[in-house]
Amino acid sequence: MKYVLVTGGVVSGLGKGVTASSIGVVLKACGLRVTSIKIDPYLNTDAGTMSPFEHGEVFVLDDGGEVDLDLGNYERFLDVRLTKDNNITTGKIYQSVLEQERRGDYLGKTVQVVPHITEAIKNWIESVSHIPVDGKEGPADVCVIELGGTVGDIESMPFIEALRQLLFSVGQNNFCLIHVSLIPVLGVVGEQKTKPTQHSVRELRALGLTPHFLACRSAEPLLENTRQKLSQFCHVPVSNILNIHDVPNIWHIPLLLRSQNAHDAILTHLELQSVANTPNLQEWTDRAETFDNLTNSVRIAMVGKYVGMADSYLSVVKALLHACIACSLKPAIDWIAASDLEDDNALSTPEAQATAWRTLKNAACILVPGGFGDRGVKGMLLAAKYARENRVPYLGICLGMQISVIEFARNVLGMERANSSEFDKDTPNPVVIFMPEGSKTHMGSTMRLGSRRTLFQTPDCLTAKLYRNSEHVDERHRHRYEVNPEMVNTLEKSGLKFVGKDETGKRMEILELKDHPFYVGAQFHPEFKSRPGRPSPLFLGFILAAIGQLGPYLQNPLNGSL
Ligand code: GLN
Repeated sequence: MKYVLVTGGVVSGLGKGVTASSIGVVLKACGLRVTSIKIDPYLNTDAGTMSPFEHGEVFVLDDGGEVDLDLGNYERFLDVRLTKDNNITTGKIYQSVLEQERRGDYLGKTVQVVPHITEAIKNWIESVSHIPVDGKEGPADVCVIELGGTVGDIESMPFIEALRQLLFSVGQNNFCLIHVSLIPVLGVVGEQKTKPTQHSVRELRALGLTPHFLACRSAEPLLENTRQKLSQFCHVPVSNILNIHDVPNIWHIPLLLRSQNAHDAILTHLELQSVANTPNLQEWTDRAETFDNLTNSVRIAMVGKYVGMADSYLSVVKALLHACIACSLKPAIDWIAASDLEDDNALSTPEAQATAWRTLKNAACILVPGGFGDRGVKGMLLAAKYARENRVPYLGICLGMQISVIEFARNVLGMERANSSEFDKDTPNPVVIFMPEGSKTHMGSTMRLGSRRTLFQTPDCLTAKLYRNSEHVDERHRHRYEVNPEMVNTLEKSGLKFVGKDETGKRMEILELKDHPFYVGAQFHPEFKSRPGRPSPLFLGFILAAIGQLGPYLQNPLNGSL
């Protein structure tokens, strides 16, 4: 196993995850098999309990792992299926060490950060790197490890030490360290400053790690004398100084790395030249260039709760992007804070309410993504009602599907207080209820998580056709509440059809509204399995409906560029 460790310095938010996944893409394009590990030095065991406001979306894996959103980047860039163990946190490591301690495995020894925690980290990395994630047998050739946070953070110390030990045990030729840093430009002279990078490299070296490569983030390309300076002061050969300057879209980054011969330098360091080919990045080149040249766009209203933080719905945004590109369109996403639509706001913030409604009415389609808690629910119900009544394409994901059921029950079936028991425990019409998958008595881990099968109830529905007439589909879940099976008949009689159900027939997975161009709800999250070049069928259908092309597409799905 060859390891590529990516660390970050100077500031957070440098795009370390995108850099690390792009390095993976270039190595994969050379014919190597690549896997990845993300280390998050925080104490949370996983990202499941973390607020999207603070930390961005919680990404969900096939095995039900609730992980950092960077794993989504790896899955999308490398087209792999990761496991929950590919995301290491301080919480997970301590938990495993403490379990061993309680079992008495340390035979009376004092259990310490060094060597026990560091040993556990090393073992975890070595064993997880061997899990195949690309559908083939046997371990990958290269494992890209991204260390979250910035070098020097107190909480990442044990990881740095463990990685130093790992390097020592596997040897320099099996371990390559790439340090991502920032080259800011200051003042009127506009000089590229290398000092912050020098400091963070010094910090790394003080901890026993010397970077073999620098990946310098900058607005403009690095000047020759900046490179020389960096090389001299950071002890990195000029040929190993990579530069990730600002580019029009992130798909350019693997291309940028290739143009700087990053692959040659990395492969030489790892002694892999003999098994690697010249990188083939045709698909990436086409996609990056196509996107730059797109002129038409489609307006999509995203009505959610966490709209203040761009990363809260990262995978939904990516899935929209994948679907739009397949239709030769740029997505123009209008974020609407669901609560702004609510009537209560007419008095307190009339302008915000008016703007929210104007934006909603201007959109070609409306998406209500997943969420928890009752804030904004009233606004989401209004958005769903508007989409239903005005025949605007609607995609409701997880909470968005539950919203469409509540809205339908209230406004079509006349059940005024219909609700989800998540929002109103005493509702006389619980159309959405708590349906634990395992224990009915235990509240912990009662979320229905990960890949579950949906069976289409009839081939004669929009979504089955979008999924290319398959009989079933496996998508990822993350929810506690579900459509009340006792209400299904009543809802169906009035035109809300549950065209996808789980294998027991008790869990409603997909709904469609009769006589509407596209009104679809999914209890699962189709966004997590969308890939560039392979958009999620539900997102594709949604965008096609927004531009009036769904009919022609369904007649001949293999036609044209789609
Ligand atoms: N809060 C809802 C539930 O738990 C929806 C969850 C979601 O949208 N991910 O079922």
